[in-house]
Amino acid sequence: MAGAKYVILGGGMVAGYAARQFTERGAGHDLLIVSSDAAPPYERPPLSKGFLAGTDDEAGIFINPEAWYAEHGITLRRRTVVERLDIGGRRVITTEGEELTYERLLIATGARVRTLDVPGASLGGVCYLRSLDDARRIRDGYAGARSAVVLGSGFIGMEVAAVLAQQGNATTMIFPEDRVWQRIFTPEMSAFFETYYEEHAVTFRKDETVAAFEGDGRVRAAITATGARLDAEIVVAGIGVTPAIEHLADSGLELENGVVVNEYLETNVPGVYAAGDVANYRDVLFDTRRRVEHWDNAVEQGGHVARIMLGERTPFVHVPYFFSDVFDLSYELWGDTTGADDVAVRGDITTSSFSVWWLRGGRLVAAFVMGRPDDEREAAPAWIEARKRVSADRLRDDARPLASAVDPSAA
Ligand code: NAP
Repeated sequence: MAGAKYVILGGGMVAGYAARQFTERGAGHDLLIVSSDAAPPYERPPLSKGFLAGTDDEAGIFINPEAWYAEHGITLRRRTVVERLDIGGRRVITTEGEELTYERLLIATGARVRTLDVPGASLGGVCYLRSLDDARRIRDGYAGARSAVVLGSGFIGMEVAAVLAQQGNATTMIFPEDRVWQRIFTPEMSAFFETYYEEHAVTFRKDETVAAFEGDGRVRAAITATGARLDAEIVVAGIGVTPAIEHLADSGLELENGVVVNEYLETNVPGVYAAGDVANYRDVLFDTRRRVEHWDNAVEQGGHVARIMLGERTPFVHVPYFFSDVFDLSYELWGDTTGADDVAVRGDITTSSFSVWWLRGGRLVAAFVMGRPDDEREAAPAWIEARKRVSADRLRDDARPLASAVDPSAA
């Protein structure tokens, strides 16, 4: 029977970064990665940014060079889909019927895109974005196109609409909310981004959904629920993802919004771990459970869980973080805005240089920074991690140094 001491299910970002830790600790030859993808582990951020725009090439986005795995004794099994897990027998069973044994198993199967269920959704040119193949398909789809429709105003929607507009497409974003990225942005932030996108030839259809697509093999138009017909030679739906756990049903692993793990990224079954988009982990900083779908989380948990699997058992303590690049803007967000009861803005929110600070009970819980001095970028994660008490009024006062916002009278 084939197998390895350490097996990683899923050949995504977690696998790429975990593999580095295994090799740095001399354990590469004990590692097997089972991946359904044809490509070696790659960075996902470029898929909706530089790679999609054609400025990054394929080899440039691989986390480790293609030959690196074999050079370090790692078995990278590609195009291999796992059907189920036999936890008692410590075996992974593939759809081909092959059995792979392990001593320690890392579940890093990530997430799958939510798909549309409307007439015409299977027409060519109606795309989703998760994998390298998906990004290639969108690139092929926009070459020569002049009109694009993007569904959703979350991460994918905001980034892909920017790329499609920059490629010269008349681009319309359709989403059910009354402003962009309602889940994360404050109303003032949405207003800034909407103005910016409109100035860059993106049109919005708010409070709107898609009812159907029309075309003859390939999509030509999107029909909205209110009956509008929008030209669309390419459609990209960024309407969220769900954790990839189907193959774990009845495995004995605790599943709820992904694979449930503690702060050591350990599941309820000894020797089995989960990390990345699929892991619903215990966040000791915020004293809550969360499942984070970002690049940074995959990088940090990938490295961390590898060290834990190799015997360095320390809790994963990390401020959630993401970054995004749209048009010529770059911004970052740390923390969690949930339950915030006060928000302070520094800078001018009508320009591309401002930061937003969310407070809960006087403590800083999240911060967004765009085009601001480095001290703001540095303070944001440090203050959130330290659970600093801050003064919203002093944060708002640009004339004061940032450091003065830390309330000296507070414990
Ligand atoms: P997302 O950020 O969850 O946003 C999806 C949005 O689409 C939500 O606002 C959702 O509303 C809305 N929606 C749901 N059904 C819809 C429909 N039928 N029509 C229009 N809108 C609909 O997910 P995403 O943008 O698809 O991104 C997918 C994943 O890629 C995420 O995990 C994200 O973290 C990752 N990603 C990250 C980055 C980055 O970190 N910079 C960049 C790209 C992608 P509800 O909330 O009401 O469901």
